[in-house]
Parts: sequence; structure tokens; C-alpha cells
Amino acid sequence: MPAIIDAHVHLSERRDDALTRFAEMNGLRYTLEGLLESMKENGVGRGLLLSPPLKSGIPLPNGRVIELCRRSGGLLSPVVTVEPSAKEVKAAIRLAESNRKEVKAFKVRLGYVKASAVSPLFERLYDFAESEGLPVMFHTGDTVTSTGDLAKSHPLTLDALANRREELTMVLCHFGNPWFEDVAELIYKHPRVYADISGLTTGGGAYPDKFAGWLARKISEAIYFAGGPEKIIFGTDYPITAYSDALDLVKRLDLDEGDREMILWRNAEKVFGL
Ligand SMILES: [Zn+2]
Repeated sequence: MPAIIDAHVHLSERRDDALTRFAEMNGLRYTLEGLLESMKENGVGRGLLLSPPLKSGIPLPNGRVIELCRRSGGLLSPVVTVEPSAKEVKAAIRLAESNRKEVKAFKVRLGYVKASAVSPLFERLYDFAESEGLPVMFHTGDTVTSTGDLAKSHPLTLDALANRREELTMVLCHFGNPWFEDVAELIYKHPRVYADISGLTTGGGAYPDKFAGWLARKISEAIYFAGGPEKIIFGTDYPITAYSDALDLVKRLDLDEGDREMILWRNAEKVFGL
């Protein structure tokens, strides 16, 4: 069986990492070594590494993400996080140019930053991503902080962008949680819009088993509506969701085995050129 691809992993090895509390909640060792061990134990052969937020609210610098990927022995590939300013957009493009073979995508933190997906600040980024065939991942839906801006992270804000940018490959992270039906419509409507299923469970809570069943039903239904699993990509959002919970969700999906394989590695291979 080919190895699973985790298209959404965070790591910093810094004390001021804002996701540390999730690592503790899930009982995970939030270090490069701990992550690689977890991947191995769960049959995950490759991962895309995204900058986690630091306690100050800013994301871990992209250079550090690239460094961590280099230390992973080829198991992790960097995704460059892009903040909404002319300077940051320019720096992100330059970094992607100088690390062409390694960088697999860009990420925009909708809901955490002040700009929306259609902000003119991102136009240069989208031009570059289109011309290089690099996907742009967008945080969509619920934010881990109570101060997030849901009007900007709502998945439907990406419809206007997809209408205007038919050549741009977009990945809607977290399936727009909890706006699953809206995402189902977007991936059905737009040929280059995909969604990942990362970060949908954080362990614990009331009725954990019933919640897992409800979530699997919702995602399964979204897949039926979209006409198949071709646009759905596996991810954990490590350390927010543990591998056991993320893989349990895939197992619970009411799909054929071949369709599960598409979600677990085939789609990511294709979309990110892995
Ligand atoms: Zn994430």
C-alpha cells in the first residue's frame, strides 16, 4: 500500500507556538522527531508543513518552515504562508522562487488576517501561483481563536475569486467547517477548487462518538453531492487533530476502498505535484 500523504501539518519547535495546547490535549510530542515518529506509526509517508501561529498572533517565519522540512529527510515539504501586505507578498514569491523544487503551495490565513481572499493585496500572489501551477491553500471556517473573523473565513467568499481566476488551484482547508455544504457546492462548481478534511476533530467534548459519526456523515454527503472524492484531500492539522482521529474519520466515510485511497494520497499527489 502506498504511503498516506498528510497535506496539512504544523510544527515550530518553539515555546511560543500557539498550538502547543492542542499537542498537550492530544498527548502528542510536538517536535520534529515526535511528528516523524507519529507519521511512521500511522503509515504516513509524506507531509506538507505549514507555519503554525505563534502566541503573538503572527505565523512562524517561512524560512523556519523550510529549515524544518530540510531536517525531515525529504518527508516534509514546505507551504509558504502569505500575509496581506505588499512586502509580505513580495517576500513569499521570492522565497518560492529561490526554493522552487521544495515549495509545494501557498497558504492564506483567512479569518486571522484583516484581508479577504479577494483583496487586491493578493493579486500578485495569485498571478505567480497561476503561472507556476502552485495551489493556494485557504484557511476556511472556524478559527481556533475566539477573535477570528468568520465573515472573511467563510468558504463562500472564495466563489468570487474562483470565478475570476479559473486557472488558480485552490484548496479550502478544514472543509469550511462547519459550512460543509457550501464547500461541496464550490468543489462541484469549480474545476480547480479542492478541500482538505484537516482539523475537524480536536478530541474530547461531549458525545465524541456521536460527533465523529455526524462528521463522517456530513463529509460523506458532501462527497456524494460533489459527484465523487476527486477533490477531497486528507490532512490532520497536526497537532490540532491526532493521526488516530483523522484516520478514523476517513475510515468512517461511507465510500468504496478505492475512493478512500484517492482521499488518502492519490488526490494530494496530483494537486501538489508530489
Ligand atoms: Zn492548519
